[in-house]
Amino acid sequence: MGRDLPLAPPEKGYPPSPAERFVPTGREKAGSARWRSTGPPVDSVSADALRNTVEELAAFHTRHTFSPLIGPAAEEIVNRLTAAGYPDVVRRTWTNAGHSADNVICTKPGTEPGSPVVLLCAHYDCRMEDPHDATARAPGADDNAGGVAAIIEIARLLATVPLPSTIRFVAFSGEEQGLWGSSAYAEALHAAGDGAHQVVNLDMVGRPPADGSVTVERDLGNSVPGNDAASQAFAEVMARAAADHTALPVRLGPIYSSDYMPFEARGDVTIGAYEGEGNPHYHRTSDTPETLDYGYLADVTRLTLATLLA
Ligand SMILES: [Zn+2]
Repeated sequence: MGRDLPLAPPEKGYPPSPAERFVPTGREKAGSARWRSTGPPVDSVSADALRNTVEELAAFHTRHTFSPLIGPAAEEIVNRLTAAGYPDVVRRTWTNAGHSADNVICTKPGTEPGSPVVLLCAHYDCRMEDPHDATARAPGADDNAGGVAAIIEIARLLATVPLPSTIRFVAFSGEEQGLWGSSAYAEALHAAGDGAHQVVNLDMVGRPPADGSVTVERDLGNSVPGNDAASQAFAEVMARAAADHTALPVRLGPIYSSDYMPFEARGDVTIGAYEGEGNPHYHRTSDTPETLDYGYLADVTRLTLATLLA
């Protein structure tokens, strides 16, 4: 597999190293019942809204990047972000190895010029076992309609909330071929001198592992060493947000095999949230909306939103 692909397809379902337990200092343990909620917008995350988006995206026969359905899937995301309160959602076309598709980008301007830009991203394309099969049924509910649903829900809840930092909500295509959409976007941003980003990536966040935990991913080396410490500090913010706003046990793992990598390679500060390994439906026709836990997806959405507000 991957014979005519410039990069090996990412294997998100198989972490390179195990995640370790995160225990916040000054507390008994993460995931105890001592979490607190702090009112809107974090408390306003709607599991029903998340389910609705997942079902709508999974209803496309496939969202394979080489399928003609990738365009209508992008349009569905444009429509949902527009309805969430953003009139200026844009589609940006990339081309790689003779294939083209669009990234969907929506910007919420910050109130403080010059403050760092935060990217909240998730890929909307999906695949079956054979990465070249653009015609088989591929619902891609957990991988990764759930992540897209989370960013749309966060965009909706932040639409009227003034924040110092500019936030860009981005849905990438071409992830399953080798991070093609995110690589093109990272390259374009940096070529425009628009660097120094914080990147938060959501890829597979709707189906809890056996212990019900969420894994906060941080940068442990990779291409650029100079951004590791800032990533680990940012991951600590996300892990604490998880402990404060959900009852989920929290783990710390590495970033790997998803759309934050092209940004990491350009020096940006990258983290992610991830359910952890163990989804038996990974890259299969059986990755359907019924296999997701919408309470869990809502929790991951809450902790991500709380991270942006921290
Ligand atoms: Zn994925």
